[in-house]
Amino acid sequence: MKTDQTQIKRPRYMGIATFMRAPLVQDLSSIDIAMAGVPFDGGVTNRSGARHGPREVRNQSSLMRTVHPATRQNPFDLKRIGDIGDVDFPDLFDLEASVERIHQFYLRLTKAGVMPLTTGGDHSISYPILRALGAFAPLGLVHIDAHTDTWDSFAGSKFMHGTPFRRAVEAGAIDPRRTIQIGIRGAQTSSEGWDYSRDQGMRVVFMDEVEALGIEGIIREAHRVIAGKPCYLSFDIDALDPAFAPGTGTPEAGGFTMREAIRLVRGLGGLQLVGADLVEVSPPFDIGGMTALNGATLLYEMLCLLACQPEI
Ligand code: MN
Ligand code: MN
Repeated sequence: MKTDQTQIKRPRYMGIATFMRAPLVQDLSSIDIAMAGVPFDGGVTNRSGARHGPREVRNQSSLMRTVHPATRQNPFDLKRIGDIGDVDFPDLFDLEASVERIHQFYLRLTKAGVMPLTTGGDHSISYPILRALGAFAPLGLVHIDAHTDTWDSFAGSKFMHGTPFRRAVEAGAIDPRRTIQIGIRGAQTSSEGWDYSRDQGMRVVFMDEVEALGIEGIIREAHRVIAGKPCYLSFDIDALDPAFAPGTGTPEAGGFTMREAIRLVRGLGGLQLVGADLVEVSPPFDIGGMTALNGATLLYEMLCLLACQPEI
């Protein structure tokens, strides 16, 4: 059953922006894939602004078209896809309550059998999403980022954008031995997070190894680590080089080009994905909307991966 694409016939700059001009829907029984925004950056340690990510990614995503240049597939022909709006934060200043709001929102999607494609928000949002999606069995994880985000805490808080995947391991939401972290780089104040990932058995691919193995080699590693079982894809926009993604809170030099990132995401085709997110787009630091546009472009590639999953 495909998505009604009536509005796609209009010029792309017209109308109220939804993700990729998908219909705005409330009835979860009418869709297979939900695109959602999590406008929350209460877990940021340095430069904030990712709370503005979903709105600007929606805006830039109106530039997206539908037929994929490599596969010739149109995700909107394969699955019923809608924009379900944003997670609401009525208790915005209560960090733990906000984390729980995200968790409840995604539990509702899981119960409805709808696959989520999320735009953040800072990376702290991935923990409550994973806790909902991995509630019954630990998921594999493909995590593309400059940072492992497996630190223990910051300034006394366990819920921030450097800790989501440690929390997810502790909650049993992901299997560290079926987790691959790709693109790690940049100096840190301590090696604690890197060490945690390694000690838990995660496959940590630092940028030096990306250079050595090449994108095709990394894709093979990802398929080997995930081992044909259900998994989640989390893409932090700071995995890209700051030349391609200046609009983010924690830029790290020496990152992926967009060509490499697109190849990498396409190479994840065939994985059994249960959902995906794109986080850390911070429009106040962006230049001409390029970070949001690159984020929207990667979300389109991720949407194509989700749309190719077998029916639930
Ligand atoms: Mn991150
Ligand atoms: Mn990062």
